[in-house]
Amino acid sequence: MDGYSRFASKRTSLFRASEIRELLKLTEGKDVISLAGGLPDPKVFDPRLADIAREVIAERGERALQYSPTAGVTEFREVLKDFAASKGIRVDPGDDVIVTTGSQEALFLAARVLVDPGDKVIVEEPTYLAAVNVFREHGAVFEAIPVDSEGMQTDVLEERLKSMGRDEKRPKLAYLVPTSQNPSGSTMSQERRRHLIELAEQYDFLIIEDDPYSFFTFEPVNVDYLKSLDKSGRVIYTSTFSKILSPGLRVGWVLGPRDLISYIELAKQAVDLHTATLSQYIVMEAIRKGIVDATIERARSLYKEKRDVMMNSLDEHMTGLAEWTRPVGGFFTMVYVNGEIDMKALMLEAIEKYRVAYVPGESFFPVSKKKNTMRLNFSYPSKEQIAEGVRRIARLVKDKLGK
Ligand code: PMP
Repeated sequence: MDGYSRFASKRTSLFRASEIRELLKLTEGKDVISLAGGLPDPKVFDPRLADIAREVIAERGERALQYSPTAGVTEFREVLKDFAASKGIRVDPGDDVIVTTGSQEALFLAARVLVDPGDKVIVEEPTYLAAVNVFREHGAVFEAIPVDSEGMQTDVLEERLKSMGRDEKRPKLAYLVPTSQNPSGSTMSQERRRHLIELAEQYDFLIIEDDPYSFFTFEPVNVDYLKSLDKSGRVIYTSTFSKILSPGLRVGWVLGPRDLISYIELAKQAVDLHTATLSQYIVMEAIRKGIVDATIERARSLYKEKRDVMMNSLDEHMTGLAEWTRPVGGFFTMVYVNGEIDMKALMLEAIEKYRVAYVPGESFFPVSKKKNTMRLNFSYPSKEQIAEGVRRIARLVKDKLGK
């Protein structure tokens, strides 16, 4: 790439290669247990999708194989509104929904229409790495607020907002994954959700609620969506079918006040014209035939079992060595090692000598760069791999801490 740097736009200097992808390459074809990825378990994929794909092409091919509107297939957008309402997400009469190419595109488009260089964006710390990359690419300056087991510490946010000087730039936007967060696994309490909405009203900022995981929590969580608590049109909600049907279809969606959604629609036109029509038809039929709900139930029970194996293995091998979150959903837990240790610097040795991979946590902390952390995935590896992987990580940590 260097040979072409003189041609590259200034923006490319803000791009970061995904650490996760680079690391996964190292583990390919080796006898390494990877707790690094973030893939769904293929056991949750529904084989009936083959029939749906065939049916959609055979019976509705004239439309399903054709270009379609930028905002999404009209019929599918109506189905999505009903789907949202059926899950307890409030859809206001002034709201609109558009289909995106995964929720990653929704984040990209939201950043594109809301963030100018130098704008402040409130994020959880740790937070989802690919969102950090999107905001960074648009020149955002991060206001990072720590997360504990009840999500973003909104009292810290309030203090930060209060202490901002008169001439200081105010945050325009907050980005959160309030339920089963990636990477920490924490879920924001109802009280903090309400507090965040109050702060958004008082200090006039918008909120992006990124929600890939709430549909299959392992225990009931009695909290409302930020979108449902919002009475002043400040929340842009995005979700995806990646974890509850198939990530390969690349179908996500974004719901929010019509005026904001129409900016996003305009931006999308320039990016990809529209999301794959065929994928939209397949997801629409999968919702109608109950396949999405069946996948949600399979995901819930399989990932709960795997979460339990991970928690039991951590209890058995890491007690005293580290602290970690107990996620009520999602794919991940975040481990905080007790002691001075740089998990990123140890990565190569972990792979080559201990035959285990994890994601160093550092880059999920855009400001504080906590080095003693790692994100562990329990959705993809088998239960045996989870147990053995955690055992290997504990060995590495013990050796390095000299215990
Ligand atoms: N947000 C979060 C928090 C995620 O974990 C992911 C997937 N890892 C995404 C967004 C993007 O998902 P997709 O583009 O597949 O919908």
